Amino acid sequence: MKNVRKIQKKIALERIQILYLNAIHYSIINKEIGLRQLELIKRLSLKFNLRLPYPYKLFFCKNCKMPIFPGIDSKIRISNIPRLHIKVICLKCNGVYRLFLN
Ligand SMILES: [Zn+2]
Repeated sequence: MKNVRKIQKKIALERIQILYLNAIHYSIINKEIGLRQLELIKRLSLKFNLRLPYPYKLFFCKNCKMPIFPGIDSKIRISNIPRLHIKVICLKCNGVYRLFLN
């Protein structure tokens, strides 16, 4: 039964990659469809207990857990104090969180 779970996880990761590319594509054309794709990514990662790769994490707010498009629904700044980090400001909840780079 362990092999079945492994195969399911692999298929889910492939599906997440397809949805991610679709979400970027639809962020310009039709934002509602893009947000729906991001919701599906979140549901798949929760169901199959998958850790999302780093660039995918920029698409979800850490405060309100809502799907956001970086640059459209959030402001991104780079700062060097106290350590090199990316500062993400969510425009939906005005929450600020930091992603440290080293
Ligand atoms: Zn937020």
